[in-house]
Amino acid sequence: MKVLKFGGTSVGSVNNINQVISILEDKSKTDKVICVVSAVGGITDKLLNVGYLAQSKNNDYKDAFIAIQRSHIKLIEALIPKKNKEVITYVETKLKALKDLLDGLYLINELSPQTSDKLVSFGELLSSYIIAETMKSRGIHAERKNSQELIVTNSDFTKAEVIYKATNTNIKTYFKSANQDITILPGFVSKSNLGELTTLGRGGSDFTAAIVAAALKVKQLEIWTDVSGMYTANPKLVKHGYPIKRLSYQEAMELSHFGAKVLYPPTVQPALDLNIPIHIKNTLKPDEQGTVISTETETTIVSPVKGITNINDIALLTLQGSGMVGIPGFSKRLFETLAQEKINIIFITQASSEHSICFGIDIKNADLAKTAIDTAFENEISLHKIDPILVEDQLSIIALIGDNMKNFQGISGKMFSTLGKNNINIRAIAQGASERNISAVINKNDVKKALNVLHERFFEVKTKQLNVFIVGIGNVGEKLIDQIAQQYNFLKKKLKIDVRIIGMANSKKMIFNEDGINLNDWTAQFHFAEKSNLQGFFNKVVDINLRNSIFVDITANEGVSNWYDDYLKQSIAVVACNKIACSGTYENYKKLQDLSLSYNTPFLYETNVGAGLPIINTLNNLIASGDKVTSIQAVLSGSLNFVFNNFSDRTNFHDTVKRAQFEGYTEPDPRIDLSGIDVARKILILARENGGSMEIENIDNQSFLTQTNLESSTVDNFYKTLKTEEAHFQKLYASAKANNCQLKYVAEYKNGKAKVGLREIPEGHPFYNLEGKDNIVMFYTERYPEQPLIVKGAGAGADVTASGLFADIIKIGNK
Ligand code: ADP
Ligand code: ASP
Ligand code: MG
Repeated sequence: MKVLKFGGTSVGSVNNINQVISILEDKSKTDKVICVVSAVGGITDKLLNVGYLAQSKNNDYKDAFIAIQRSHIKLIEALIPKKNKEVITYVETKLKALKDLLDGLYLINELSPQTSDKLVSFGELLSSYIIAETMKSRGIHAERKNSQELIVTNSDFTKAEVIYKATNTNIKTYFKSANQDITILPGFVSKSNLGELTTLGRGGSDFTAAIVAAALKVKQLEIWTDVSGMYTANPKLVKHGYPIKRLSYQEAMELSHFGAKVLYPPTVQPALDLNIPIHIKNTLKPDEQGTVISTETETTIVSPVKGITNINDIALLTLQGSGMVGIPGFSKRLFETLAQEKINIIFITQASSEHSICFGIDIKNADLAKTAIDTAFENEISLHKIDPILVEDQLSIIALIGDNMKNFQGISGKMFSTLGKNNINIRAIAQGASERNISAVINKNDVKKALNVLHERFFEVKTKQLNVFIVGIGNVGEKLIDQIAQQYNFLKKKLKIDVRIIGMANSKKMIFNEDGINLNDWTAQFHFAEKSNLQGFFNKVVDINLRNSIFVDITANEGVSNWYDDYLKQSIAVVACNKIACSGTYENYKKLQDLSLSYNTPFLYETNVGAGLPIINTLNNLIASGDKVTSIQAVLSGSLNFVFNNFSDRTNFHDTVKRAQFEGYTEPDPRIDLSGIDVARKILILARENGGSMEIENIDNQSFLTQTNLESSTVDNFYKTLKTEEAHFQKLYASAKANNCQLKYVAEYKNGKAKVGLREIPEGHPFYNLEGKDNIVMFYTERYPEQPLIVKGAGAGADVTASGLFADIIKIGNK
């Protein structure tokens, strides 16, 4: 004999029921089969809802009833297209009884737990009847038996306790004489020893199957559902979750108690008692292996953690007060009070100071618990020995579960540091002495992120997901998006980094997609995008709440840079080519560095100096390895280099600058480059990276522009002054030429001081042959005293800036 149970979705549509029937036919070829079925998918909730409407005198209950009626009749018409009159008549009689019950609820304005059980029983009674009749109409030797005649319980309505002795006798007696090949039993429903209709609790059809399997001591119990087994985490929340091949009974019990809804927790015990393996299978993918629950667990190489679960809608209650310390009996009274109210405690922790006891319960019971406890401790509260009980809601529990966790060190450390790194606040922690379960209470909003980040940590050692949010979709932004799209597969395969762009904005519009924006058609999506603003963008990034989030600033906008601290405080990394933050006040620079440290969240800005060239990184590495930088000499302006490489007595200064701007080598306002400010900012950042607490005013900026140039009020006006001052620029050129030198705009840092200015560079100097828009930086250090460490290459341009930003993003991925 075999026992199979099919859940709501498995019997939720014509196709699925046909699939169930074909599985049953196949199984019945070799053995007699008992099949336990749930109500048609979603019907139990609908019955409860229609009952609630009726008892609250809401006339909508009539339409809700008609919808339930229609869905069942439609199923029959599709499953038994011919000669279905008798079946329809029978079902209509049952539905009439349901309607009468609802009309009664409407009149008396009340829905007791006992009536609620009567109401929901219709679901399983109807589904089992329809399936059995369908099979009979197809010539299959099947019968339905009403489980209410087999399973005997006490009168704890909505979750009754099974009286095993009577139940087992009934089951054995019935099946001794039943000779049909397939028996269909409604799950979930039962009857009390006083003859009242009861149910076994939500999700209880699994339990019905286990009770029957144990009574008949069958060899295997199969739970058929809509997923391919018990997963490493709820597959609806964690995309990369996968079915666990083998679980011990204890692990399965723990997983189901802590939220793995795929198995109703009480189901395990009857199977465990008789050592009956439970096999969880997918009705729609019957060939997939599924999960086997037995005495054997699977010792995975991947992780000693077998699964990660969550329970939502938790209230955390804290009983605290100085009067509790060292006085026995407080916990006893507390838990007795809860037991009297039949409140189930899911989670308990007590600080070793005994100053407080904290426990988690279902939010539904929070008010009841508070009143009961405050009453029980009324005396102590009035004497200020303890405080009135504190209730916090909007919480969830997440748990790591695995038999083998006890043999591994550092699992809780990894769990909590992973959560911490992602800014997930932990409200309470519990670890059983068996070490089969480590649980934490967190905010409900963080659950999806927490499950995913822990799943990544414990099961996907291989791939790390990076979630990128870009502000500034200009030349560089577009290049970065192209580069990410192009390298996506390579990074995933070779570096095990999954880089996804989740949000993009320019000054006008923004788009988001939690699953990653399709990079092949983002421009089209941008077309229909919502209006952007920095606050809205920030809110959305926080709201989406994804792990390893990275905010990328590709603007030159101060407004954007003012948001970095907010992002860092949310543990969202910041990558910027915008150099305003790092070259603004030292106080702000320092604040951002400190935030990055204290939130353990990267703040990277390699592209602030020399675009994609590894300048800041090199400097940081020198310092980290104990070297001391004595001086830095550099040409740091791609634009000025371009200008002076192209300016001569055969060209004019105005046109050369225009061309540099046209080719994209200058800032939109060329004065920022030509005045030397941009270079001053860069050397300032290097000086700060080297440990100096300098301000921009401390940098000696020896401008080569004339007073007239410097005083121009607009960009247009500035260009005009370049024309009128041509003679000045030609003079600079002529002097350099006469000295056989090249003009280079040089930044120098030495002995804690920095200066920038135009220099005549003689032949043979490393700067002399610097071409086009190239940058060069020479680090003189204790280890490189005479021959400096030189970094040289293109220091401007969209492509190289984008690749510098990309390198920072990848660096975060490798962290
Ligand atoms: P049925 O109607 O077949 O009894 P349930 O809805 O009760 O099905 O249980 C299956 C659902 O349990 C899955 O669709 C999934 O959303 C949820 N679930 C939660 N945690 C897990 C987990 N760890 N493994 C598998 N499913 C899970
Ligand atoms: N139909 C019941 C419920 O939805 C029992 C079950 O499906 O297991 O809770
Ligand atoms: Mg279920």
